[in-house]
Amino acid sequence: QPSTPVLSINNIEVVYDDVIQVLRGVSIEVPKGKIVTLLGPNGAGKSTTLKAISGLLKTENGDVTRGDISFMGQQIDKKNADEIVRSGVFQVMEGRRIVEDMTVIENLKLGAYTRSDNQINQDIEMVFSYFPRLKERTGLAGYLSGGEQQMLAIGRALMARPKMICLDEPSMGLSPLLVKEVFGIIDKINKEQGITMLLVEQNANYALKAADYGYIMESGKIVLDGTSEQLLSNEDVKEFYLGGG
Ligand code: ATP
Repeated sequence: QPSTPVLSINNIEVVYDDVIQVLRGVSIEVPKGKIVTLLGPNGAGKSTTLKAISGLLKTENGDVTRGDISFMGQQIDKKNADEIVRSGVFQVMEGRRIVEDMTVIENLKLGAYTRSDNQINQDIEMVFSYFPRLKERTGLAGYLSGGEQQMLAIGRALMARPKMICLDEPSMGLSPLLVKEVFGIIDKINKEQGITMLLVEQNANYALKAADYGYIMESGKIVLDGTSEQLLSNEDVKEFYLGGG
């Protein structure tokens, strides 16, 4: 890939509980300002890769046992989750993980926990400009629809003013219409805010349309990578990931 990577994962291995090896030498580069997607079947190790980046493995007794990860030239694989957020990488976890008994605005403020500037209210308005529907929802976040919760989870990530957002299956559980809407907004945020994105997906079609570059992971290894155009026209990708033909 041409431009300088903002994130580089160099040949990492990840092991859970000291014995279960899930990643077997994974290397991924994400260039500044681009959207890169990581695709693959259930259990391939995609979420594990994102957790390795965000420092979230330790909470599951997982460990990067080999290789390293660097973000903007700094090695981050020895840092804890909070330090990684402060260095500019924010993860939107699978299943949204919003706080159901807090309001939309309270959830958004949680995203800004690392900030001490006085522009937080402005940024809440910025999030509402991307997700106008959230502004109308004044009750508890637990009452939001699945799509709205996904939007709130992305909005909360924006509140951290991250340099990079890692998204774990944003399309999960959403209707095709909502998937299209959410991907449209992800693309808009990338273009307008210049935020680099790493997008884990099972929905290869939408992910490749939004992304500049893609990696395909199977059983803890990268088996194929290329520009979105290359992958969309690859016969194996068509057959196994894009629903045939
Ligand atoms: P999915 O789309 O189902 O989330 P994935 O590609 O994201 O799949 P991972 O969630 O990274 O895959 O899981 C990869 C493998 O690691 C699976 O075999 C899973 O059972 C195993 N695994 C994940 N988390 C743990 C854990 N905390 N302890 C032990 N094994 C785990």
